[in-house]
Amino acid sequence: MSKTLAELTDKFLSGFEGCAIMEVVDSFRSKKPLVEMMSFLLGLPEAHLHLTPAECRWEEEKNANAAEHYRALGNALYDRRLTAQALQMFSTSILLAPHPPRRPYPAAGEKESLGGSETPFPPFSTEEEEEDEGKQVLSLAYANRSAMLLELKRYPACLRDIGLALRFGYPKRLRYKLVSRWARCLIALDREKEAVALLDAALEGLGSLPCDELTLANAKVSLLMVRQLCRKAASSSKGSPSFSLSAPALAKEREFKVPKLKNENRSAPALSSAVKVAYTRAKGRHLVATRDINPGELLCVEKSFATVLDSEVTGICSHCLADHKGIVIPCPECTVVMFCSLECQQEALSSYHRVECPIGPNLTGLGLPAHVLLALRIVTKMSFKKLKKADLQLRKEVETRKPATLGLNGEDKYVSSYRSVYHLNTNQAQRPDLDLFNACVVAFVLLKLLQKSGRFFCGEEGQPCTPSHEDLVLVGTALCSHVLRATCNGLTIMNHTRVLEKTLHVEIGLGLFPTLSLANHSCDPTATVLTYQTGSLMMSLSFIQKGGEVTRSYGVSHLHMERKERRALLQEGYHFLCDCRACKGDWPLFKDISNSLTLICLKCSQPLCPLSLQCRNCKIDYNKPLTKKEAKVSNRYFWMEILHKVETAKLEFAFSANPPVNYDEDEKKVICDMLRLLAKYTKHPTKIVHAVRNSLDLWLMFWAPANYFR
Ligand SMILES: [Zn+2]
Ligand SMILES: [Zn+2]
Ligand SMILES: [Zn+2]
Ligand SMILES: [Zn+2]
Repeated sequence: MSKTLAELTDKFLSGFEGCAIMEVVDSFRSKKPLVEMMSFLLGLPEAHLHLTPAECRWEEEKNANAAEHYRALGNALYDRRLTAQALQMFSTSILLAPHPPRRPYPAAGEKESLGGSETPFPPFSTEEEEEDEGKQVLSLAYANRSAMLLELKRYPACLRDIGLALRFGYPKRLRYKLVSRWARCLIALDREKEAVALLDAALEGLGSLPCDELTLANAKVSLLMVRQLCRKAASSSKGSPSFSLSAPALAKEREFKVPKLKNENRSAPALSSAVKVAYTRAKGRHLVATRDINPGELLCVEKSFATVLDSEVTGICSHCLADHKGIVIPCPECTVVMFCSLECQQEALSSYHRVECPIGPNLTGLGLPAHVLLALRIVTKMSFKKLKKADLQLRKEVETRKPATLGLNGEDKYVSSYRSVYHLNTNQAQRPDLDLFNACVVAFVLLKLLQKSGRFFCGEEGQPCTPSHEDLVLVGTALCSHVLRATCNGLTIMNHTRVLEKTLHVEIGLGLFPTLSLANHSCDPTATVLTYQTGSLMMSLSFIQKGGEVTRSYGVSHLHMERKERRALLQEGYHFLCDCRACKGDWPLFKDISNSLTLICLKCSQPLCPLSLQCRNCKIDYNKPLTKKEAKVSNRYFWMEILHKVETAKLEFAFSANPPVNYDEDEKKVICDMLRLLAKYTKHPTKIVHAVRNSLDLWLMFWAPANYFR
């Protein structure tokens, strides 16, 4: 067993005798610059001795025999027509099969070419070398799985697997099988013309196939049978140049895109134009309404800068956090990291996973919390070269720029980038010294792992290099600051599924959203946040007056927790004293909130006198019916009319949107109309408002994935 982080830290501290230990711990102070503390730690021989993680390997590594075993199991299941189960076995076989050595890694940030044109069509070309059969388990497993996918009508995934089988050296004499399957997919996808061209080219190429007469005859029959399925397009344009062996592998199965807002804030495009970034000394940067905002408006839509998947979660793509439904494309080197698509695999391998793969066993063995892995991810997404350049520049910005403009790029825009991440709060000054000691220690361990990876510290041409002491201090300090940042800005990513009548919420990872991070906490938030895969959106929960603050909850609410307890939790986790309206007014818990509604004055928002129904401050009388003229200018209302309206809305809400059933715009309108009515005329908090907000939350959870993130 490898040592955990806590064990390494203990070992490190036990290396000092008597008061030496106090001297070490005393060097970590909230007032000191991080770079000084990091430099100090890097200068301690004890740190290098005890905080360097030992060699560590995965329990299961790529293994051709194991892969072949699962492939055989898959075939046995398929013989019994258990297609879905067979598919799982083939996926396991693909995961375990050794992959051919990769071409030199592309430079960070550059995508590896998928080699669209390197192998000519037809697939029976005699020029290429044939792999010996023992090494072919990977391509055979992909081919097997493509057959399952064809049966399950998962055509784009089937095409991709065919492409991968061909790419990984599927035996030439059997390739007619894949070509038939490929053509069937094209036909099913209404691309008959391409299918005809493919089949005709394959039939023509059969002559050069290195195999016996019987196989040739079989191949011909098989291809002709599919050819007969193409009735519509009898003739073809031969030798269509668009075919290459990897062409099907390039077929996109799905794409996850975070949509754009209709009216975006020009200087912070993740925000709606109804919201802007404001700054005060007391609040720091925060979000403010630029106009009156109604409940149910989309205020922020943002893709994460970085995300990490919780290590114990299964069934989810490591890159885009989509449910991969068991049809995985594994990392070519390890048996742990899996992707939903080739695109995700390529994106991960061209940035962070390239660096993290060799140290994966250590990262798991150390038992590092998600926010530490997120901090590492922020760094591994960058190349060393870029990080070094950015860090020097950003450090200068902290000293020279006004705090209100931190994070803005050269065009004065606030966008998701390393810069906006770098300028997020670390709350260093408010933290206990022990926090800083721990952050420095974990950053030191991560630094050692980056060196061990051999793929992070690279020179100009991408060749591995030995970092200087200054380089180590720079990267270590960056890691340390990101660890602090990730604890107070990381957003838990949830998966919401409905099983029968129940809704299951499962934490699947942690993400960093630079714009969303600017929203302050409130124990009675004005907006709600939903995460979906690597995207997030924020929607208003209540009426927010122009100039009012847009807030979200960091996980504690006045409904379920006393103020003292809430403040302690927020202090510990986020290092601030909550002074939201619920804390200021020490609002009651949900169970103690009264059931009845109290009407308020439109001018001063104070409760009306329950007997006279007048406002004591403004002397406005709400106890007489409105004249026609008055009804047009609404600075007053007649209490009976409003109570009637509220009662009607309550009934409609109870019947048609509590809980939501259809998750459509009609339901949302009922919910939001109700919230607007209550916000305008009644005193907050009330039980009913929270019930309605709850419905809006629920509505959003199921509406957004289907309608917004597609
Ligand atoms: Zn994915
Ligand atoms: Zn890997
Ligand atoms: Zn509060
Ligand atoms: Zn008043």
